[in-house]
Amino acid sequence: PLVLGIETSCDETGVGIVRGNTLLANAVASSVEEHARFGGVVPEVASRAHLEAMTPTVERALEQAGLRFSDIDAVAVTAGPGLAGALLVGVAAAKAYALGLGVPLYGVNHLAAHVAVDQLEHGPLPKPSIAMLVSGGHSSLLLVPDVAKDVISLGSTVDDAAGEAFDKVARVLGLPFPGGPYIDRAAAEGSGTAVAFPRGKYDDGTLDFSFSGLKTAVARWVEAKERAGEPVPVADVAASFQEAVVDVLTRKALQACRRYEVEDLLIGGGVAANSRLRALAQERCDAAGVRLRVPRPGLCTDNGAMIAALGSELVAAGVAPSPLDIPADSSMPVTTVHV
Ligand code: ATP
Ligand code: MG
Ligand code: FE
Repeated sequence: PLVLGIETSCDETGVGIVRGNTLLANAVASSVEEHARFGGVVPEVASRAHLEAMTPTVERALEQAGLRFSDIDAVAVTAGPGLAGALLVGVAAAKAYALGLGVPLYGVNHLAAHVAVDQLEHGPLPKPSIAMLVSGGHSSLLLVPDVAKDVISLGSTVDDAAGEAFDKVARVLGLPFPGGPYIDRAAAEGSGTAVAFPRGKYDDGTLDFSFSGLKTAVARWVEAKERAGEPVPVADVAASFQEAVVDVLTRKALQACRRYEVEDLLIGGGVAANSRLRALAQERCDAAGVRLRVPRPGLCTDNGAMIAALGSELVAAGVAPSPLDIPADSSMPVTTVHV
């Protein structure tokens, strides 16, 4: 069956189309430039941008796939978590498409979709897998017996999300929003061992993360340089900060694999686009005999294909469609795969 997926949880209006595990279209319109001057996503601006982008983005996806509305067999949509107003636009649109086309609606979890999207690139997810979800709003380690049915939380950040730390440190370094990609690029010119930044919860025996101490340490270090009238070595600070984040992330991910005796690790979410995270994870997985799967960067950041991928998985698993009156749930827990 052909599944149309709609994503509007943050600042990307994403529409994807898949058939089974085959990606047919992935159209994304971002309002990121409208938020950049505020240094963060402005909810009202995002909602309005979704409203304006929805119809053109759906049409662009259909065009990419060479399909018509009448070819669509099911509509999947992000029902949460995310910005309430932004989610509402997507959910309302998806209901309208499902009702208008006479096809079933599937309300899905954005975070589980960050995991499911990998199937479009690397085929069926081994059961069980460990998934590390690292994004702008979340950082979690998950045991995934079956992404269509069951996602178990093993640990998560106790303060900032990994992507949030990237964005805040970028601001301290005078880099544009969203900072993740800019830190990644700046770090390529610097040394990851230039500054020994703290690694929160490194040895605490849990599968939780903490990034706010690191963020504060970077800010203090930069302030001290500035007070001393010395230039801030942006590339070295970016590389050393990035090293601290990915060191902890990969270490904890492999601890999870060991603890649950799982040999397949998937990394998803926007921060999974980070080049150093991808490299270090590969190195450590190879050493530990763990198979690593990371979707290509364009599928790590928010998009509609990931929603279509999870929807397609639900259809294949015979999961009952959602009622047409599902709400948008801004704080949907990661363990709720669909509604
Ligand atoms: P969530 O999925 O938790 O609701 P979100 O949808 O806003 O949050 P994503 O689009 O999944 O987040 O990820 C965006 C985050 O990923 C931002 O914080 C961004 O800085 C970060 N990011 C994107 N590319 C990179 C990169 N190359 N290196 C590090 N971080 C990155
Ligand atoms: Mg975004
Ligand atoms: Fe996301």
